[in-house]
Amino acid sequence: MSHFAALLRPHIAGMPAYTPIEPFEVLSRRLGRLPHEIIKLDANENPYGASPAVRRALAELEFAHIYPDPESRLLRQALEDFCGVPRENLLAGAGADELIDLLLRVFLEPGDRVLVCPPTFGMYAFDARLNAGQVVNVPRRADFALDLPAIRRAVAEHAPKLLFLATPNNPDGSLPSPEEIESLLELPLVVALDEAYIEFSGAGALGEKASRLGEVTRRENLVVLRTFSKLAGLAGLRVGYGGFPGWLMPALWKAKQPYNVNVAASQAALAALQDRDYLEQSMHRLRLERDRLYEMLSEFEWLRPYPSRANFVLARVLGRSAAELKARLAQEHGILVRYFSAPGLEDHIRVSAGRPQHTEALREALRSMA
Ligand SMILES: *Cc1c(COP(=O)(O)O)cnc(C)c1O
Repeated sequence: MSHFAALLRPHIAGMPAYTPIEPFEVLSRRLGRLPHEIIKLDANENPYGASPAVRRALAELEFAHIYPDPESRLLRQALEDFCGVPRENLLAGAGADELIDLLLRVFLEPGDRVLVCPPTFGMYAFDARLNAGQVVNVPRRADFALDLPAIRRAVAEHAPKLLFLATPNNPDGSLPSPEEIESLLELPLVVALDEAYIEFSGAGALGEKASRLGEVTRRENLVVLRTFSKLAGLAGLRVGYGGFPGWLMPALWKAKQPYNVNVAASQAALAALQDRDYLEQSMHRLRLERDRLYEMLSEFEWLRPYPSRANFVLARVLGRSAAELKARLAQEHGILVRYFSAPGLEDHIRVSAGRPQHTEALREALRSMA
């Protein structure tokens, strides 16, 4: 190793890397299958892809040679119309992931604490460490419910500045109750609700009844994050947004990269918002498929699926290795599911809702392994 490596910030040099899912082209080569022959149920992407309106908007993209609007004005105006939050309280980002990192960047001094409730989305803890923060873990109960008394104790003891909570939670798909969220908001910290899957929650046409996004103008410590990656099918373009209390906006504007949302992502997101029918249709199909997937997985004695309010189903694997199951599904059947080696999830797989034929293919594959 170069002796210049000693110049690196020690907390980054010593950090384990995030393990993202593998890109399609790499998988395709490794599995010896064409991309369209692979059944990709490992990243909660929309199997129907983006709306035709989005594809047209991208084909007609005019200003790829011009820097994007640093304030994403058109997109934020469209988001205001879409979700009813004033654009002054909205910020767009290169995916919700960028906004998670941005929040941590504006809040954390080295050693400051961030509360997370694992098992959950890995980026909260990862980005907290990347930003020299310390992660305070308050594990969920065995059924993935929040442990509110333990959260209160951890807040009193460690005084974290921020709490991240996915609603519904990834990877199990559970949705905390309004009362639980209410009691978190009473704590002396900023609560960042990650609504990446809220549209699938079944409360309202696009999840609006369960969403807290509309409250960010009234609640001083509430942040709500959203994404175009999952329902709108724009994961590859990297675009998300968040609603924030007014006092936080100036810090976010200063700290974000000026051209964080590129012109293609911005155009695509605008077109996706204009094709609301497509979003609602995708939501219906995927919720139906999630429920079929749950039923299908329940047919197997050696699988214990959890009820989910998102577009995926987590299942416990009994009496055999979940890691091996994942590997065999990929190698022998070209079906990709997610496996986590994280504590509490070693014997679980998570399967995204796909098209009906994907559920059938998975059923056949599982039967052949019984
Ligand atoms: C997928 C996911 C995200 C990432 O969203 P991007 O907009 O693609 O960055 C954020 N939060 C959760 C809980 C997710 O599962």
